[in-house]
Amino acid sequence: MFLDSDPDAPGAQVAPILVGDLEDPVRLAELAAQSDIVTFDWENIAGSSLRPLERVTRIRPPRAALEVSQDRLREKALFARLNIPVAAHAAIDSKAQLVRAARRLGTPGVLKTRRLGYDGKGQFVLRDAMHIDEAWDSIGGRGLIYEMFQPFSREVSIVGARSPTGEIVLYPLAANRHGGGILHYSIAPSASPGLERRAEIYMKRVMLALRYVGVMAIEFFVVKGRLIANEMAPRVHNSGHWTIEGCVTSQFENHLRAICGLPLGSTRALGHTAMVNFLGNMPDRDRLLAIEGLAFHDYGKEPRPGRKLGHCTILKSRVKDRNLALADALKLIKWT
Ligand code: AMP
Repeated sequence: MFLDSDPDAPGAQVAPILVGDLEDPVRLAELAAQSDIVTFDWENIAGSSLRPLERVTRIRPPRAALEVSQDRLREKALFARLNIPVAAHAAIDSKAQLVRAARRLGTPGVLKTRRLGYDGKGQFVLRDAMHIDEAWDSIGGRGLIYEMFQPFSREVSIVGARSPTGEIVLYPLAANRHGGGILHYSIAPSASPGLERRAEIYMKRVMLALRYVGVMAIEFFVVKGRLIANEMAPRVHNSGHWTIEGCVTSQFENHLRAICGLPLGSTRALGHTAMVNFLGNMPDRDRLLAIEGLAFHDYGKEPRPGRKLGHCTILKSRVKDRNLALADALKLIKWT
């Protein structure tokens, strides 16, 4: 049973759907009454609207994880408390604070909304202090964060699952390419054993601190060979979609296993994969399917600029073949 505000939500293709606001107490109570366990794949639901459900059903991942991940400031505070490096940052509630922060921390930096920002929404890259007025006119207000721009060589993410008994499985690190703040494609496993070890250590710290149950992702910038944590997602993650074809057990199956208290499945990679998002429009399916080893996923959503409508995954046994097939696929995909 799903709850979504849109009757055409992709979930409705596979299970009954309740239609209503995700924070509507009546609909949530209905959902809880019919469910042994409630989970979510979107983190912008007020924790307070889920609290009453905890009396009638289990919420997994825990509400605390949801609440931390909704607020970039709390997220960074958690990382810092766990000795996970983050970008230098400051909370901003007024233009004067931004002026001070830009002076104290320096430029370039990124001004972001603390809440409800994802896929690059609600962000302004402040190149120098001369553009403060422009930044403020663009997204100024209360509840912002200013963080130092990270001159990263790459962006990577780790996805893993933890069960109620404390079993943890972690997927190989993925390298992610974004455009305009939104994920364009991921390559996995990424060939960085050292970074992978570090990401695993950080992920375990966060999972233990939150007594986490379910699948979680953490995104990092790689700056001079070090990981700087950017954000966490208490849910299955776009940069983990490659695991559907690319691993023994997908992130989706492991999420269900984790929240249901079942043994977790192997996260071993089956080869070398690339996952490419379809954004804003669907590419020519038949031409993509002509690429050997390519799997095509259409979410059945209405096209809208920048909207994630589907993705494809290429699985090959050799890196060189994966890269060639990825180059072929990228020629057929336009992000709009
Ligand atoms: P976010 O919504 O924080 O995941 O940001 C989306 C994308 O914007 C990231 O994946 C980066 O490509 C870019 N970005 C965000 N914050 C920073 C930063 N502090 N330094 C450099 N790039 C950033």
